[in-house]
Amino acid sequence: MEIRNVDYSYQQNIKTLSNISMTVAKGQITTIIGPNGSGKSTLLQLMSRHLTPEKGEVLLDGKKISLFSTKEFAREIAVVHQQNDAPTDMTVERLIEYGRLPYKKLLQMKQKEDDDIIAWALTCTNLEEKKDVMLHQLSGGERQRVWIAMSLAQKTNYLFLDEPTTYLDLFHQYEILEFITQLNQLNNMTIVMVLHDLNQAIKYSDQLIIMKDGAIVTQGKPAEVMNEQIIKEIYGVEVVMKSDKDTGLYIVPIGV
Ligand code: ADP
Ligand code: MG
Repeated sequence: MEIRNVDYSYQQNIKTLSNISMTVAKGQITTIIGPNGSGKSTLLQLMSRHLTPEKGEVLLDGKKISLFSTKEFAREIAVVHQQNDAPTDMTVERLIEYGRLPYKKLLQMKQKEDDDIIAWALTCTNLEEKKDVMLHQLSGGERQRVWIAMSLAQKTNYLFLDEPTTYLDLFHQYEILEFITQLNQLNNMTIVMVLHDLNQAIKYSDQLIIMKDGAIVTQGKPAEVMNEQIIKEIYGVEVVMKSDKDTGLYIVPIGV
């Protein structure tokens, strides 16, 4: 996917994003980082057609995303939003079934293929035993997995996730990140996500996009773009970068 010179404003004369250009490499994990309000979610929404650029264009396999039909586009890109609301009196399996909508014709019943894919999505996310449970009976980590399972049922090549680990405890944060890595490696899914934890971003990404004030400050491999100066510049926080032969590069925040 290519984003070329994209501008976006929610209100006239206030640019939320200005001149955004970036490439999402197929088969890789790209992570967007940056302070609150820097435009990460807005960028993800432009890439998933929830918003339309005011200037510039977004291309998928060389074709403008605005030219895809709704169903066609939903078969290419699935999104797990930052906040997901669903009726709480719905079962896990039922919600996941919604992921199959882009493949359905009007009034068409669920097919064997849909059942197989829903079963696969349940297995992938380790939710088989929860399939008949109501959404409101799940923990935060389980609910996040259900949203991912619904996206998987969409059978797309691209998966976008906006802060998939926020609100989860440490174990469940790493559980989700390991799972995303598996989707990338075993299913060859192209992942774009927004993360807040810089050490997680370094560990789990092939490419980092670093944003501030609606612009991309720098982008590239974690080891190439992460350093003490850039973190000070972006977040105003003093950090020390360390490198360990086992754990690789990591950051220790010192203070402001
Ligand atoms: P991030 O995800 O990096 O925290 P966002 O993309 O959510 O940042 O927001 C970028 C900027 O756009 C912020 O200043 C935010 O207040 C503003 N913004 C986000 N959504 C809306 C909206 N629906 N209407 C008006 N302004 C918005
Ligand atoms: Mg956001």
